[in-house]
Amino acid sequence: MVVGLVGWFRWGWRGPPSDRIDRRPLVLVDAGHGGVDGGTQGFGVLEKRVALATARAAADALRRRGVRAVLTRETDVALTLEERVAMANDRGAAAFVSVHFNFSTASAAVRGVEVYYSDPKDLSAEVAVASLLGAPVGDAAVAAASIALADAIRTAIVRHADTPDRGTRNRPDLAVTRRTRCPAVLVECGYLSNPEDAARAATPAWRQQLAAGLAEGVAAWLAGGSR
Ligand SMILES: [Zn+2]
Repeated sequence: MVVGLVGWFRWGWRGPPSDRIDRRPLVLVDAGHGGVDGGTQGFGVLEKRVALATARAAADALRRRGVRAVLTRETDVALTLEERVAMANDRGAAAFVSVHFNFSTASAAVRGVEVYYSDPKDLSAEVAVASLLGAPVGDAAVAAASIALADAIRTAIVRHADTPDRGTRNRPDLAVTRRTRCPAVLVECGYLSNPEDAARAATPAWRQQLAAGLAEGVAAWLAGGSR
């Protein structure tokens, strides 16, 4: 956009507010599944719906804390895993947080929150570009930062949402955490195969507690300088 002389006198050298670059770290909040991909389901609760509702609440909670948060999807649309990854990499996100709900075929008694990260990452598509630019990619510091982010989110969710702590786990097989360049985690908020978790997932009140924990964990991680 061209400001021109009139704009210069009106706004000064900074340009109009919309032209100012937001330099705050960007947190990409990814609502799992969507569209034809419903994810898992249990007790009448569909993963894609509660994941979106929880992700939206988390993005709102982050914004209330002054964190710049953007959702990968705002509505019930299908996105490929690569599209989600590209959003984080193309926009230079500081963190990627994917929101999901889990299902156990082993036991309906299994419930609680667990958070995944990927070490090592697979940045083969990124490395070609980055090496041309002389930029380092996929260093060990990113893995450590992903673990710190996972732990911060998990402990805050356990506290806010009164749910069992199932730990932080390395899942090198997950595309969204493996192929994103930034620290990245996937939060399994609860088990739709468990009657209590499923019933709570259906309520806005519990999703707000999950979102409050997620936002507190991300904010603590950002403030801690571990990224
Ligand atoms: Zn899922």
